[in-house]
Amino acid sequence: MMAAGRAGELGSRVLLVEKNDRLGVKLLITGHGRCNITKKIDSPREMAEKFGRNGKFLISAFSRFGVREVISFFESRGVKTKIEKNNRVITESDMAQDVLNALICYMEKAGVEIKLNAEVRSIDKSGDRIEKVVLATGEEVFADRFVICTGGKSYPATGSTGDGFEWAKALGHIVIRPVPSLTPVILKDVFVKELEGLSLRDIRIAAYKDGRKFDSSVGDAIFTAKGMSGPLIINMSKGISKELPGDVVLKIDLVPDCDFTEVDMKIRKDFQEGPNKQIKNCLDMLLPQKLVPVIMKIAGIEPDKKVNCITKEERKRLLRLIKEFEVQVAGLPGFDKAVITSGGIELSEVDSKTMRSKLVKNLYFAGEILDLDGPTGGYNLQVCWSTGYCAGEAAAM
Ligand SMILES: Cc1cc2nc3c(=O)[nH]c(=O)nc-3n(C[C@H](O)[C@H](O)[C@H](O)COP(=O)(O)OP(=O)(O)OC[C@H]3O[C@@H](n4cnc5c(N)ncnc54)[C@H](O)[C@@H]3O)c2cc1C
Repeated sequence: MMAAGRAGELGSRVLLVEKNDRLGVKLLITGHGRCNITKKIDSPREMAEKFGRNGKFLISAFSRFGVREVISFFESRGVKTKIEKNNRVITESDMAQDVLNALICYMEKAGVEIKLNAEVRSIDKSGDRIEKVVLATGEEVFADRFVICTGGKSYPATGSTGDGFEWAKALGHIVIRPVPSLTPVILKDVFVKELEGLSLRDIRIAAYKDGRKFDSSVGDAIFTAKGMSGPLIINMSKGISKELPGDVVLKIDLVPDCDFTEVDMKIRKDFQEGPNKQIKNCLDMLLPQKLVPVIMKIAGIEPDKKVNCITKEERKRLLRLIKEFEVQVAGLPGFDKAVITSGGIELSEVDSKTMRSKLVKNLYFAGEILDLDGPTGGYNLQVCWSTGYCAGEAAAM
């Protein structure tokens, strides 16, 4: 949509071909329907670094149409934004629909023709140029230049089924194997069901494989019916996937700001203040209510037991569970639950300023189809805005 709008704005005659009966199906579910448009990081280089090894490809696009430009693009089209925790830029209305409306309006003003329910089946090349695309209906669409923005393979129900990867391969491009990235984790522990819906803020999770720590981060997480999700887990999932299959354990520190001794002092103080209280009523300050019965069960402590009857051993077990609550990773869900696809069009075959293919003269790529994937928090849409804008601009020239 960004590419189409930009090319149209510069005077090109543009046709956007979309197989769904609506535009922006995935965009509407971003940020839980609130659309985390971008991340408030002003330096293109700093933003690009978040994409790891491949990040340098983005410096040019981020410099041309970066965070500042994206915010002003939407603000000037009536989409007010706000900055939330961790510098995430969100729609002030909490509605992704506003972002979609702004893009549709942008395209309408630029004279872009939109063709819905139009599935591209193949792309036909003649010599070193694409001649036409063929739709599922057999209809052929001829054009001078083509921009492929079919996304990755994540959440295929939204329309992102990876079709563009196959076309790119057929056109001679290398496609780095697409794998699901940024996913929740599935846990083995049966108690998970009891914790469903429990959200934990500012906790630390350390990840271990066969006793070796390979990651540790602080953030927010939530228990789901089968495991855990939330930004902290989703961002750790890439590292976890590399260690699987195997014995991967997550140790959750529920109070990362205090060390063992400080937590022990807090527990003892609470115990002293209410010696006749039942233990289950004495942990509210330290633990969320929903977690208390689960922790009591794992610690082997009767929830009704009076605080002054708790033994030193029991208190130590409790302390360990508060600082190192262990869960066992069973696996990761696939593309159905992945926020992003890792892998895609090999970047050395694409010009980083124009997004033009180095192999096919009149072909451009933009968005998630490229071999780029960042953490959660607005990074991945920023890739779409920046590369889409550059591709649209170059294709219009
Ligand atoms: C649940 C969820 C939440 C997310 N939240 C955020 C967030 O808050 N912030 C953020 O930065 N990122 C977020 N992302 C990631 C972000 O949504 C994607 O990176 C982004 O949508 C990719 O845009 P795209 O245009 O490249 O591809 P897509 O959005 O996948 O769009 C591709 C389009 O191509 C169409 N298409 C595919 N094949 C064909 C074909 N053969 N013929 C015609 N049309 C076709 C599809 O129907 C689809 O509409 C989220 C992702 C998910 C799944």
